[in-house]
Parts: sequence; structure tokens; C-alpha cells
Amino acid sequence: MSLRFGTVHSALDLRAEGKRADVFAFTHSDNRYGFSSIQSPLAVICGGEGPTALVCGGNHGDEYEGQIIVRRLFEMLEASDLNGRLILAPSLNMPAVQSVSRTSPLDGGNLNRSFTGLAFAGPTQDIAGFVTTHLISEADLAIDIHSGGKISNYLDTAYFCLSGDPAQNAQTRELSCVMGLPYTMVVPASDTNGDFDSKAHAVGCAMISCELGGEAKVSLQSLERGWHGVLRLLVHQGVLRAQAAERLGMPPSPQTTFIDLGENVQYVTAQSYGMMEPLVCLGDRVAKGQALMQLRDLYKMDATPQVLTSACEGIVSIVRTTPIVTPGDHLCVICPELSSEGLEAQIAAATT
Ligand SMILES: [Zn+2]
Repeated sequence: MSLRFGTVHSALDLRAEGKRADVFAFTHSDNRYGFSSIQSPLAVICGGEGPTALVCGGNHGDEYEGQIIVRRLFEMLEASDLNGRLILAPSLNMPAVQSVSRTSPLDGGNLNRSFTGLAFAGPTQDIAGFVTTHLISEADLAIDIHSGGKISNYLDTAYFCLSGDPAQNAQTRELSCVMGLPYTMVVPASDTNGDFDSKAHAVGCAMISCELGGEAKVSLQSLERGWHGVLRLLVHQGVLRAQAAERLGMPPSPQTTFIDLGENVQYVTAQSYGMMEPLVCLGDRVAKGQALMQLRDLYKMDATPQVLTSACEGIVSIVRTTPIVTPGDHLCVICPELSSEGLEAQIAAATT
């Protein structure tokens, strides 16, 4: 039975026992692809009647750690390693991957803002609809792996996307702790419309997404943290047998630090054209008033550089990678650390 949504289809049998790799494919009749099928890999490993995990990378095309981790799962696991089933989509937005781009070159679509459920609304929305209708619908847990792409570098951080459902928040918090990345960003519910997380949550699927480094390159440290975190999640959810994860060298969960990407976050933003000079590093703990970035006029060597300072105490959580900036470009993001009381307050605020 073929899986279809809009222009997207796949012949992969998601239900039969065993391990299979195929593709999902779609058409887009422009000058380049008018006589083509545009394909992305899709695989399944089905080991039993247990729960199903969907693991995805390449939602944005210039992010690589997730694409490697998902391919590794297929290479290193057999059906006998699983209590349940793994559905693996390493390069969700292949046109973006092939063009080393965050968004699709076909329609400009950002896949992670396209989970609206409309069919025949362009290639990017059709992919999102296919993922929702045929993959998320099969899953008890979805994992979507991101990194900073060409434009930015992130801490290795899970996303705790808050929702109005206390049970869902408790579940996502637990998944964040099990994944055990060094940081977990707590995100207000209103910030996530149209993305993978909110769609999975809307249909009752457990969901965790993350950022692993960035700069459109592969960080070995971020890759290994993500790999171990995914293995821990799969064991925790009863998909992967513990012996298989031990064979692959899975360590126990390190503690994660919760940080605020909500109302207390500080985006340090350029208000003029210039060249950015960082004065701090990703992961630095900074004090209120500390100098973070220096912005120089590109032409006037006798102009005094503008120094941008931190409005709060916190952790340098995201840093821009391209130093030539225009007004409105974010240079870095300072996330305050959340105490356990602060975290509880944010969760409570989301559910009232
Ligand atoms: Zn991304």
C-alpha cells in the first residue's frame, strides 16, 4: 500500500517485520525538476509489537549532526535489537540539503514552519503533511534533530517546548532529562506554531527536538552527545533493547541545565551596519553589563566601535557565525539559567 499526501508518496511498508530502506518522493514541475522525482531516504526497522519512535534529521538542509545520527541508527541496529519499531527519516527536506540551505530552493519554504496540514500547497507543506499523516501518526515518540546551520552556532541543547497540557509538559521535561544534553531551552508555547514539535504535541505524540552545534559543519562532540542522547531516549521509551544500547556504548544521562528562551531571554541585536567582533564564547556565563560584542563601521576606521552589553546574567547560548551584519541581525542570545523554582513557575504559567 502506497503512502500518499499531496504530491508526496512512498512505497515503504512501515508495518512488516524486518529492516528496509526506501524513499519518499514528490514531483515539482519547474524548469529543473519537470521531468524528475525528488527523493528523500525513508527507512524502517521493525522488531516487535512495542512502541514506535520516529527519528528525523535534515528538517533544515544545512544541519548535519541529525542526518548522520539517523543514518547511524539504520546502519548499527537490526530488528532483533528492538522491542518495537524505528522509523528513520535522515534528510526530511532533501532539496534544502542538496542546496546546503536552511529552506527549500523550490518554494522558499521553511519545513519547520510548514506543519499546517495543507495538501498541494507546495513541496515544503506537502512534505510536512506527509510526515504528519503517515509518520507522526505511527509514532509514540518523535525526535527531530537540529543544529545552528550556516547562520549560527548553538549550545548542545534539547528544547522543552511548553504546552497547555500539564501531562505533556511532564513528559517533555522527563525526555529532556533522559536525553541528557548539557542544556535544555525552555520555550513558550506561543513560539512554536507550525513546527514539528507543536504538530506532534497536537496529536498526542511524545516529542523532543534539539540543537547540536552549528556553523554548517559537523562537531564530533555535539554528534556524540546527540547520538548517546537518542540511544537513551529509545531505551527509555521501550523501543530499543538495553543490551543493544550498551553494545553501542551508551553512557548514563548526564544532568541537563534548564535555561530560559522565554520572556527573560536577551537577543543582542545589531542596530547598525557593521562587522561583529565577539568578546565572549558560546557557553560563557556572563554578568549583567558585561561586554558581549563589538560592532565596527565597515568604512570609517576613525569611528568608535559600538560595544553591546548584556542586560542580564546568563549563558551565551547562540552565537552568530557571519560577522557582516545589518540592523535587526541577532549577534548572540543570552539565556538566564532557570532554578528549579523558576522552571516550575514557567510550567505553571503555561498551563494556566
Ligand atoms: Zn534547524
